[in-house]
Amino acid sequence: MLDIKSCTPEELAEYIESIGEKKFRAKQIYEWMHVHLARDYDEMTNIKKKLRETLKETTEYTSLEVKDMKESAIDGTRKYLFALSDGNMIESVMMRYRHGISVCISSQVGCRMGCRFCASTIDGVVRSLTPSEMLDQIYMISRDTGERVSNVVVMGMGEPLDNYDNLVRFIRLLTDENGLNISERNVTVSTCGIVPKIYDLMEEDFNITLALSLHAPTQEKREEIMPIAKSYDIDTVIRAMREYADNTKRRITYEYTLISGFNDSEEDAEDLIKLLGRQLCHVNLIPVNPIVERNYSATSETYVLNFKKKLEKNAINVTIRREMGRDIDGACGQLRRKHTESGAKEGLL
Ligand code: SAH
Repeated sequence: MLDIKSCTPEELAEYIESIGEKKFRAKQIYEWMHVHLARDYDEMTNIKKKLRETLKETTEYTSLEVKDMKESAIDGTRKYLFALSDGNMIESVMMRYRHGISVCISSQVGCRMGCRFCASTIDGVVRSLTPSEMLDQIYMISRDTGERVSNVVVMGMGEPLDNYDNLVRFIRLLTDENGLNISERNVTVSTCGIVPKIYDLMEEDFNITLALSLHAPTQEKREEIMPIAKSYDIDTVIRAMREYADNTKRRITYEYTLISGFNDSEEDAEDLIKLLGRQLCHVNLIPVNPIVERNYSATSETYVLNFKKKLEKNAINVTIRREMGRDIDGACGQLRRKHTESGAKEGLL
């Protein structure tokens, strides 16, 4: 069945004409889906009943069901657990900043990248999300809060570049001026570093921000925590990121999760400075979020500040990721794990 919310305006027009309807109906339906964020065809009041019935029979209209939602009493951050139409579950997060609402979405159910510190990958990948399922996370949160979403980060469960075609289509729909019209500049995609896909993304000519989950300053250390480093070594991925920045003129971000005693020493900072050299970039330091299944603990605050100072002395732009929703947290992927079988078996419930 046609996944209608994943259609471009042109594809939708073609389909509507193919079932003997006037082209302007496609425009109306597109607007219901992507501007008014309708949850089903029956909300489309200016579409006649007969056409709604045909659409129900011939297309798939994806929507999410809220299974759980936790709101932080500290800063209003919300963590959603959504069920997809096949019963699989994903997580999304809504954060409030001064400039508006930012939504962090998942791109896959689970993940197959195997990063040692990440809860999303423990049970592997189940499947990739469709463009409509990625949009639905933003649409549901916008409906739920009644506010406009201004920023989107693809940093939830899954590896977005392992779901490349759907990701690109999702970005096109999200930033379409006839849809939600989110500025490309307000979209960030985070990857563990699938190098050929970084080059593909560069060719798409988006104005989005690309973030690399770096997390270690040397090949040896990176390999220890991120299996992807065995396929694409650290110099190769840094070169790809540099080229991405040069070609798109967009400043890139390196995410660096500080793990106590592993990658947070003075020497690690020096190695990182050497690795990055001079380039248009920004380093985001993240205190590791301890996860029950793994034995990693976060670096103490003084260490984080020292690490930051050292990078700054070498003219590297650094921020420390503000911890949002401290009281509702648990690392990425943990809320879902609590609701899945293997998580329940391990006593996470
Ligand atoms: N697969 C993509 C996006 C999802 S992960 C990527 O690798 O970038 C989003 C970010 O959260 C990544 O930087 C990831 O490394 C980080 N992350 C995962 N588990 C974490 C944990 N326990 N503590 C801190 N950051 C974590």
